[in-house]
Amino acid sequence: MLTITTLKQILAEPKSIVITTHYKPDGDALGSSLAMLLWLKAHGHQARLIVPSDYPSFLAWMPHQEEAIIYTENKALADKLIAESDLIFCLDFNGLARTHDMQPILSTSQATKVMIDHHLDPEGFDQFRHWNPESAATAYLVYDFIVNLLDDRSSITPEIATCLYTGIMTDTGSFRFQSTTVEVHLAIADLISLGAKNAEIHERVYNSSSENRLKFLGFCLLNRLVVLHEYNTAYFAITKEDLTRFNIVTGDTEGLVNYALSISGIKLAALIIDRTYQIKLSLRSVGTFPANEICAKYFNGGGHRNAAGGHDDHPLERVVEKFKAVLPAYQEQLMDN
Ligand code: 5GP
Ligand code: MN
Repeated sequence: MLTITTLKQILAEPKSIVITTHYKPDGDALGSSLAMLLWLKAHGHQARLIVPSDYPSFLAWMPHQEEAIIYTENKALADKLIAESDLIFCLDFNGLARTHDMQPILSTSQATKVMIDHHLDPEGFDQFRHWNPESAATAYLVYDFIVNLLDDRSSITPEIATCLYTGIMTDTGSFRFQSTTVEVHLAIADLISLGAKNAEIHERVYNSSSENRLKFLGFCLLNRLVVLHEYNTAYFAITKEDLTRFNIVTGDTEGLVNYALSISGIKLAALIIDRTYQIKLSLRSVGTFPANEICAKYFNGGGHRNAAGGHDDHPLERVVEKFKAVLPAYQEQLMDN
């Protein structure tokens, strides 16, 4: 592993740098990546952001997001940039499989990999790591990296502050989750003082639904929500026909699982979606219940204790049955008050 002193020496000369993040980037993934892109470019590096896939339209206003190269749409250029890079910044993930189609090229790349992340169990592909699984967001760690490790708070422009604010806001459920510590609030206050327009950011992210999306939400609440009182569990199972009927696009299902968790007494919530090529699961829990354990053990995934995800190649009905069959093993924890 490199020390911060060595990394600073490396970054003292102009370098070719690729920044990347996980498949279907969320606010934290994109916010961290854009902030890092802007900081690196401002320090004389040739930096490019390559994202493995498209991202939600509620993030399509973010500063410089139009510069992101979508891997699947520009593979030749992206592969060339990766091959020519001295450094690769890997943000908001710690296992290369989370980059889907980019995994092969990233694993063979000889570039120095810098990982900034807050997920459990890093795989170990990196040569420098700023990692804390208790951190609220990767964007908080990027803030900490710039301000404390690089001692460069004065380089945080209003655009960088906006990107970091968005990442922290989205990964903390607007500063609601347990991970929202005093340090997080202090960082957020500092980002506002550095030019992040907080009310405007909330407005852009949360009040940008399409009419279809809102109708889809109503449909799911009325027709797809199942509550299993005997396990304090609630889930939605969404078919591919549901997605087509409401013209659902990337980002439209974001946040849906939280409605299941908002029912009084519910400890575990799941969103199980037929994405055609596979079934995607999103789990959320409250307190000490380990949603990530269920994802890791049964659904090829993982994540945080209270927010985890995974996937399964069987048909939707079978995955729902499998999910329900897992619950008895956790009944005591789920019913525990
Ligand atoms: P979401 O439910 O929003 O897709 O993901 C919530 C969290 O679960 C993510 O921040 C990530 O940590 C984790 N996660 C989601 N999908 C996967 C997956 O397929 N594999 C792993 N290891 N983690 C996942
Ligand atoms: Mn994150």
